[in-house]
Amino acid sequence: MDYFAVPVAKLVEEFQKLPGIGHKSAQRLAFHVINMPMEKVQGLANSILDAKQKTKYCSVCSNLTDTDPCPLCSGNSRDKSAICVVQDARDVVAMERTREFKGLYHVLHGAISPMLGIGPEEIRIKELIRRLGDGQVKEVILATNPNVEGEATAMYISKLIKPLGIKTTRIAHGIPVGGDLEYADEVTLAKALEGRREI
Ligand SMILES: [Zn+2]
Repeated sequence: MDYFAVPVAKLVEEFQKLPGIGHKSAQRLAFHVINMPMEKVQGLANSILDAKQKTKYCSVCSNLTDTDPCPLCSGNSRDKSAICVVQDARDVVAMERTREFKGLYHVLHGAISPMLGIGPEEIRIKELIRRLGDGQVKEVILATNPNVEGEATAMYISKLIKPLGIKTTRIAHGIPVGGDLEYADEVTLAKALEGRREI
């Protein structure tokens, strides 16, 4: 059993709840914070609170933003005839890194997973279908992850969109099966986008 002063133990415990942080890393982070100058710690704490308080979901694309609509949805710099559907806000960042896609996004915030009890109502599919009603969108690119849940989600959405007469495409291979879009390099992701096919 490690002995820490109670506030330190509490900080270690909190760090350990973060994804990818084990006990040893949590200890290292906690001691690092304690050795930082007070104003740096204040700055870190403020940044955490600020990010949480000022970030919301864009009312159009559901991406994380501090302005509503988000910068991608507002203005005329983007091609409003194409929507790229992704699972996670981090996937938007990954797609933007490719500089291949000039359209708009839609963030589902998850994927359909019967195993985890996540149905279509739990993710932002309704919001996507609602966006397709104005006749502006000509193509929906399904860029969900190439794993079981991502494929199931893409199939489900494509079936909903088909009757609307809008072209539906799925990003092609290039992304490792079972992998996360977020971790794909630019070239792989660009290739996958280039080779998308209609489903
Ligand atoms: Zn938006």
